[in-house]
Amino acid sequence: MNWIFVGASTIAAQYMLSAVRSQAGHKVSWVVSGSMDRGAAWARDHGVPSVTTDLAEALADSDATIAYISTTNEKHFGQAMACIAAGKHVLCEKPLAITLGEACRMVAAARDAGVVFGTNHHLRCSGAHRAIKEVIAKGQIGKVLSLRIHHAVYLPENLQGWRINDAAAGGGVVPDITVHNADVARFLLNEDPQSVVAQVTSSGMGEGVEDSAMSVWMMPSGTMVMSHESFTHEFAGNGLEVHGESGSIFANNVMTQEPIGTVELVTGSGRQQIPFPQHSLYERGVSDFVTAVEGQGRAAADGVDGVKSLAVALAVREAAQSGKRITVNYGEVS
Ligand code: NDP
Repeated sequence: MNWIFVGASTIAAQYMLSAVRSQAGHKVSWVVSGSMDRGAAWARDHGVPSVTTDLAEALADSDATIAYISTTNEKHFGQAMACIAAGKHVLCEKPLAITLGEACRMVAAARDAGVVFGTNHHLRCSGAHRAIKEVIAKGQIGKVLSLRIHHAVYLPENLQGWRINDAAAGGGVVPDITVHNADVARFLLNEDPQSVVAQVTSSGMGEGVEDSAMSVWMMPSGTMVMSHESFTHEFAGNGLEVHGESGSIFANNVMTQEPIGTVELVTGSGRQQIPFPQHSLYERGVSDFVTAVEGQGRAAADGVDGVKSLAVALAVREAAQSGKRITVNYGEVS
């Protein structure tokens, strides 16, 4: 199958090209860029045969059946709608869109067109996260009381562009990282946050957008989730903890793009390392998506997951702006 890459982006170059090329019989045949010069350089550097600034030109290629969208966030909606209208399956980067309404329309359009729509939430493809989910599901820590996610990182210099200074492009730590944490909580706990309280700030990097956020989410079961994201924490490390009535899980260095980290289960019987497969998160995500396109499964995170995780992030921003507890609005999609 041939893919169209919409966006001459960093994530596409660093992870997604190789993830697609690792699937037998899959190749990237187009890159679509807003700039012919940048797109051509990107295509040359990465061995992609065709480049265009006109999305319609790439979409007219009937041999290309899948589009991967990794432009800045405000462009996802229009580009995804065009790809869906052309009958392409779509794997779209998170956050799906700037607004919940747009995200819902993308997912509904894909459903109506009968194409597969996936959201590139890579963390639920991690062997560590899947192992943690299994420990919880098997009841090894009993009823879950709380989840704490620490995902405060230092944004690398090469990414300190639109993310820290362009609200219109979808900048800010909430659309960038909180949305991932929302997906992690929903994936691990198998339920969707009901309400959130939050505070955000700019702690040295954000120019007109927040670069740090802390929030607390209430799950329908009564489980509480604490989520911390930042662009400015150079030495904080990252991880998550899940605490249950009969055990706790301590996962270190698992909020990353790499298949690394450790997972430890602590119960009355003692401490135990939980082993997990160390596959590429992005290859697994693409592989699950391709399986769904072949009609044999579902995307690791589908469109509804993308909508719901965005809804939580938007609620966090609204809670911080209003100073109130916000009930999460998941829109019309279920
Ligand atoms: P980049 O800033 O690298 O790329 C985004 C867009 O910016 C590109 O599509 C490109 O536009 C333009 N661009 C790239 N380089 C330059 C440059 N040197 N000068 C001017 N413009 C440039 O973004 P990321 O790759 O970091 O993120 C892209 C999307 O992927 C976002 O939606 C982000 O949230 C998501 N993402 C997801 C991750 C995940 O793990 N799921 C991880 C990282 C990002 P054009 O296409 O017009 O050439």
